[in-house]
Amino acid sequence: MKLNKLNYEVGDIVKLKKPHPCGSFDWKILRVGMDFRLQCEGCEHQIMVSRKVIEKSTRKLIKSTCTKENSMI
Ligand SMILES: [Zn+2]
Repeated sequence: MKLNKLNYEVGDIVKLKKPHPCGSFDWKILRVGMDFRLQCEGCEHQIMVSRKVIEKSTRKLIKSTCTKENSMI
């Protein structure tokens, strides 16, 4: 499966392959660019991660603009 063509946008929820220590897999995108700013949906912790790392570790991208989950997997 190829996930690196996903269109990441502010407000989308990224489901990662590894959970945050708080147990949540879901991160809200606060900023996109060379580096992404993500906020954990579980504990609201914020991190900066490079686009490459996000693309590698994304399990699912849930668009905020659409009620359906992205089904590219
Ligand atoms: Zn967390």
